[in-house]
Amino acid sequence: MCHAGAARFRVMGLRLNRSTGFSPSARTGVAVTICRCRECGLIFANPQPIPLQFSDQYDVSPEEYWHDLDLEWRSSYFKKELGILEKLGFRFEGSRSLDIGAGIGKGMRSMSEAGMDAFGFEPVEAFYKVGISRYGLSPGRFKLGTIEDAEYPDDYFDFITFDAVLEHLHDPDGSLVKALRWLKPGGFIHIEVPSSNWFIAKLYNFYYRCRLTSFVTNTSPMHSPFHHFEFSRKSFEKSAVRNGFTIAHTHVEVCETTTPIKSFDFLLKRYMKWTGTGLQLIVFLRKNG
Ligand SMILES: [Zn+2]
Repeated sequence: MCHAGAARFRVMGLRLNRSTGFSPSARTGVAVTICRCRECGLIFANPQPIPLQFSDQYDVSPEEYWHDLDLEWRSSYFKKELGILEKLGFRFEGSRSLDIGAGIGKGMRSMSEAGMDAFGFEPVEAFYKVGISRYGLSPGRFKLGTIEDAEYPDDYFDFITFDAVLEHLHDPDGSLVKALRWLKPGGFIHIEVPSSNWFIAKLYNFYYRCRLTSFVTNTSPMHSPFHHFEFSRKSFEKSAVRNGFTIAHTHVEVCETTTPIKSFDFLLKRYMKWTGTGLQLIVFLRKNG
């Protein structure tokens, strides 16, 4: 995200290609080094996991990917994000939006309901098919494909969203640059990514150090496939200077804790809210010009 060289990377520890659990040293699997960039706080697997082909990691049904899959669209879906956009002075009527990694198309439906001409694409065929068959999305608006393959005219969209997407891509900065090219000057990009400052991850890492192991929990989501990256606000601040955008809004959401010490949930959530060390980082960018 900041183009710093490898000399600026700090090795945090190891992660397995499966859940690390409470005794990672006793588990079999392939371990990979996890690094943190000293310049921008980005956490990433180094080397990156293979296979590099997106479809090889995500060739699963929606039911398999989302354990508690709810196919039903509700008016509350993506409403909070659209509310922030409205507060930033965005006009929905007559605007054009793009959902990158649109899944089964719920976000596109919400943007359409808000008065936007909603476009999107999704790389996983099984998700894409649900979007077409269940939501009746037009193949002219909803495409099957990756960001590497996608093509749109320059300065075409007023709003673009990467909702829980950048952490899965091999080149988040390059993907952001491509999306910025499709965005009109003054347009907004919404990004939701896992935070590299999540307090619960720090607790787990402390626990692993106490057990004298070199494992860390970072980039392990709740289910496979694993994430490639965790981001900090600074990751986007550094990218903003080089890529011509301004950070219009940012906040951190706490989400549910996943610790076994559920009785401390209340205190942990309060602490994470107070210190901005929750799980999800939400960023709205405005393209300069
Ligand atoms: Zn960096």
